[in-house]
This record gives sequence, structure tokens and C-alpha cells, in this order.
Amino acid sequence: LDALEYELVEEGDFPNLKQKEYGKIILTARKLATPLIWASFITGKTPEEAGIIDTAKWDSRFVQKLKKFLFNIGLSRLISGKGKYLERLGFRKVAYSKADLNVSTIFDLVEKSFAISVPSYNEMPMHREIGRELWEAIGNRELEKRVEEKAWRFFNQKKNKLFEILDGDWQLLMTHFFVTDVLQHMWWYREDYIRDLYGKMDKLVGEIKGKVNDKNTLVLVISDHGQKKGLHTPYGFYSCNQVLELKNPKMTDFSKIIEGKLGLPSKEDLEKVKEHLKALGYI
Ligand SMILES: [Zn+2]
Repeated sequence: LDALEYELVEEGDFPNLKQKEYGKIILTARKLATPLIWASFITGKTPEEAGIIDTAKWDSRFVQKLKKFLFNIGLSRLISGKGKYLERLGFRKVAYSKADLNVSTIFDLVEKSFAISVPSYNEMPMHREIGRELWEAIGNRELEKRVEEKAWRFFNQKKNKLFEILDGDWQLLMTHFFVTDVLQHMWWYREDYIRDLYGKMDKLVGEIKGKVNDKNTLVLVISDHGQKKGLHTPYGFYSCNQVLELKNPKMTDFSKIIEGKLGLPSKEDLEKVKEHLKALGYI
């Protein structure tokens, strides 16, 4: 749930959002930006290690390669802020996707894994569209209404997809919902509206949990950052239906937790077996 604010959940009566264990997530990304932080969640690496160096990429391989090169040698200032010139030259910014990632993700862990519009992985085009329209709409009541309507339409599209998959055969399933971020950016000052929005998200999580009958299934509710007065706050939210006893978890910790829950060995354990075989002369 993008931008779900820990302190608002804490204050309110949201039993499904809070679950058995809940708390803040420590963020270590350079920028409190949605695509960067979710890249950390799904890979367990910093966004840069995962290959995500900005909030979006240029739809030109040349420009993007140049940008990455300058970033790697610490000279990204030569290109940052030049966006309007690049746009004038006809280049466009597009969302990062799984092809841009240098490392594996939680979705590679098992065969039956599903990702519904996850930023930096397979974000649907409507996500960026809403983001751009939101920026233009802030402060314009009529445009804001239109963005609200579209954000809920996008929400329902993903919710339907989620429930379709929930009824089927799956091992790992993640959906990213953007509506919480969008509506808080526009209407953070309408306290009743925001409380109602959180209530709707609480109901959603309740419905999801009603579908998950197996007690061994881990249900995680995660936010990439919070939001206050329309601005991102520097911590995320997590809750889980099982006691994990996490103490100040980092965003990069969750991929390991998911790996463990799936009953898979850690990369370190696999490395140890390989070292062992090598020492015994297998290769
Ligand atoms: Zn976000």
C-alpha cells in the first residue's frame, strides 16, 4: 500500500492493517521515491545495486547508457536537470521494468509467483499516467476529481486481478496499490476523507485475509514510505499475520524473510555447499 503512513495507522482503529505484528520500516534509499524503494523490497538490495538509479529511465538506450555511465563514475550531475532538453529532442521518460534489474527478485524464487503492477518490475502504464496527471492536478479541484476517479479505477482493476489469482494456485503473490499515495498527495488536509481511505484499505486487507485459509500463509502489508501534509515521510510501514519479531527492519530485509517462508535455502547456504564441493575436489 503505497505511502501508508505508520502514524495514521497507529492512531486509528484498523485491525486488519495492524495485524499481529506491525511497526516502522527503516529506509535507506537515497531518495524517498516509490520505484527506488520497491526495487529494494523485491530484490533485498539497494536500488543502485539492483540497477535502478533514478525514478524513471529515458526511452533511449544511448541516453540511458550514458546516464548509467556518468552515475557510476560519480558525474551524474552532468546530465541531471537536463530533462527538458532531452524532452525537446524527443526523448521520453518511461518506467523501469524487470529487464533493467541486475539482480534476481522474489518473483524468481518460485514458479507460481505473481506480480500485479509492481514498480520497477512490471508497473502498468496507468501508474505513470496517474503520476503525471496528479502533478498537474494539485490545487485544481476539477482535475483533482478526475485523478481521484482514475486512481480508483486503477485500484479496482488491480483488486479484481488480485482476487482472480487468490482463488487459483499460487505460491507468492504481490499487488502494489497506488491509490493511497495519490489521494494523500491531493487531499491530506481532508482528515475525514483520509481516515475513510485508510478504512477502505483496512477492509481490503480483511477481504484478502478472508481468502487466505491456510494459516501458514504469510500476509504482509507493506508501505514504501509514509505521507504527512502531502509529503513523503522517511519510514515505511509493515504488518504481518504471524509473529516475526522484527526489530526496526530495513526495506532490504523482507526478500530474505519471504525466501525463508517459502522454505528455500539462503544464497549463503547454497554458497557454502558449493564451497564444500569445491574443497572436496568435485570440480
Ligand atoms: Zn511511494
